[in-house]
Amino acid sequence: MSSSHEQTAETDSVDQWAPLPVDAVVFDLGNVLIRWDPTPAVAAAVGAERAHAFLTNEAFDFTAWNAANDAGRSFEEAEREAVSAHPHLEQEIRGYRTHFGASLVEEIAGTVEILRELHAADIPVLALTNWAAETFPVALDRFDFLDLFEDIIVSGEEGVAKPDPEIFEILEERMSHLGGLDDCIFIDDSLANVEAAQEAGLDAIHFTDPENLRQDLVVRGLPLRSTRPSTPQVTGGW
Ligand SMILES: [Mg+2]
Repeated sequence: MSSSHEQTAETDSVDQWAPLPVDAVVFDLGNVLIRWDPTPAVAAAVGAERAHAFLTNEAFDFTAWNAANDAGRSFEEAEREAVSAHPHLEQEIRGYRTHFGASLVEEIAGTVEILRELHAADIPVLALTNWAAETFPVALDRFDFLDLFEDIIVSGEEGVAKPDPEIFEILEERMSHLGGLDDCIFIDDSLANVEAAQEAGLDAIHFTDPENLRQDLVVRGLPLRSTRPSTPQVTGGW
């Protein structure tokens, strides 16, 4: 029980009108709610060995190429430029988008559970994702938990990506009906994005795994089940 709630006599009515601990919780998607790995997508086109060689190729910086797509460059343009510079890698380059669905390895169940609990408790939840506009519909088709978000800000649709401060200005506008960034929690697995979010005034949590995230949210007063301690329940104990 929270020591800050003294009016326990009318628990139901008090809780009904208790202020929310935050205005909103904003989730990153990739490797927070959806495990993403480009390797299986490229491997579907050229096999595992060539996929690994491609994604670790120092002459072609896949991470930078992908980040530019997330920031709004069209895949058609991205592929044309990349194939023109690296014609021997054409199958790998085009294979990624063709088999994009394979890069969405699985939902991260523990984080999805947290998202569902927050939504059930009427905490506004939003997503702020670095994701190319052309491939985001693949995720929408696949993962029904994305319907729980009040809003999803997709970098590729905005033409700017995290950690650019401008994306947080867009978030501020999009959630202005809920409150401000300073009463908003942001969750991301990228330290650069977490630092940029903190600069923008958000309470940013660096995601490592669902269990730690749950504890980080519980200590902030969010109404989640606490999974710790995991010792056996003793009847009549405290
Ligand atoms: Mg991420």
